[in-house]
Amino acid sequence: MEDKDYTKGSNETESGQEEKKTDDGFEKVCYMCRRPESKAGPMISMPGGMNLCHSCMQKAFDSVTKSGMDFSKLPGMPYMNLNFGDMNMVPPAMEIPQKQKIRKKAQPQPALTLKDIPAPHVIKGRLDEYVIGQEKAKKVVSVAVYNHYKRAFLEEKNADGVVIEKSNILMIGPTGSGKTYLVKTLARLLDVPLAIADATSLTEAGYIGDDIESVVSKLLAAADNDVERAQKGIIFIDEIDKIAKKKQTNTRDVSGESVQQELLKLLEGSTVEVPVGSNQKNAMTPMATVNTDNILFICGGAFPDLEDIIKERLRKKSSMGFGAVLKDSFDQDPDILSHVTNEDLRAFGMIPEFLGRLPVTVTLQGLTKEMMVRILKEPKNAIAKQYEKLLAMDEVKLVFEEEALEWIAEEALKRGTGARALRAILEEFMLDIMYEIPKDPDIGSVVVTRPYLEKHGGPLIRMRGQSV
Ligand code: ADP
Repeated sequence: MEDKDYTKGSNETESGQEEKKTDDGFEKVCYMCRRPESKAGPMISMPGGMNLCHSCMQKAFDSVTKSGMDFSKLPGMPYMNLNFGDMNMVPPAMEIPQKQKIRKKAQPQPALTLKDIPAPHVIKGRLDEYVIGQEKAKKVVSVAVYNHYKRAFLEEKNADGVVIEKSNILMIGPTGSGKTYLVKTLARLLDVPLAIADATSLTEAGYIGDDIESVVSKLLAAADNDVERAQKGIIFIDEIDKIAKKKQTNTRDVSGESVQQELLKLLEGSTVEVPVGSNQKNAMTPMATVNTDNILFICGGAFPDLEDIIKERLRKKSSMGFGAVLKDSFDQDPDILSHVTNEDLRAFGMIPEFLGRLPVTVTLQGLTKEMMVRILKEPKNAIAKQYEKLLAMDEVKLVFEEEALEWIAEEALKRGTGARALRAILEEFMLDIMYEIPKDPDIGSVVVTRPYLEKHGGPLIRMRGQSV
């Protein structure tokens, strides 16, 4: 019987063909300790796609030689009861799922230069194309992001000891005011990976739910398992107000204060071991090491009742000194959130250490009717533009009357979910139009009117050749 040596690396077997076949840009992972080859060193390839690092292989042999141990009894090694004499035995395939593969380190990239980082006014200008209003927020975010990537650049250059601190961002604004949208647009413009996580699903390690590091795992997946790319990405943690410290806690606070505590290390920058392609650590999942130093963290939340806390503080202040302001003058201020201070956020239940790691605070305004109308028609991918494009493919011109758009905005305001309601409302009315119009090839244009939306009229339809 032919004697095969399974301890040889795959590149040593059968004329190096194997190596070519398996070099798909992903790292091999040790079947026993789950470390990738960048950490554990060269792998010994076994039949069935199983790889072992030298130290695990050594350990396995040591235990056999010392104790005469039966390989098949080794935990986590179901295929190790190989009968080395029987070469007809083919172990079942042990391919690592694609999403758990760690990408190999890319060729060293040309050094990042300041020119590669768009200037704040360029970032803001591009955000303007998509995000309506929220001028202050866009400006603050553009500067913070610019500084963040400058900082990453400086660190790579190993500067003169002046350490620029991370400019993680706390984003406060009502539901549907564009927090997530702003961050998503930003990540797309900068071409960096983005992970969006929900703070309510995060729990202290050891409790049911996602542990804190799962957010880094998500970012790694968004970066296509490329650790280097993930390390320059953005993590958006939504609903951060839901992990505020509870006012009276008789029970242990698993989802609030302790989650804030555990987030501290990630926010300030640390090295974490995260499972690849899964949010659970277990013996079967490969692990990758990710440094969060240059990851930009943006925490967002609606912070209900924060307005009352701010008003209360302002009232107290103004009633003490001269120039006392009328008690309810603050009630009229639509942008009261912009007066927020760390003191207010502490009163809300955020712990000081946590706030200290989010030095940039951005507030977004609740959307007004005018902003809603603009959102419907102005952004590059505005909902109205999308419908116009769809009908243009049938060579039908779609027009929204200004009053119709205003009606949609008024309805959306009533629902209280911000701009999120716009699409839902419009979709309801566009269904019939999108269904009926393609039936008649002679139709040349459709005007969506306010009476149609108010359900006492139809859309204005004109045939081809009819003057408008
Ligand atoms: P939240 O503040 O709750 O995170 P989102 O960012 O998810 O709100 O907003 C919901 C949707 O509303 C977005 O996908 C986007 O289409 C639209 N939207 C909200 N605010 C704006 C805005 N200022 N400009 C353009 N679109 C917006």
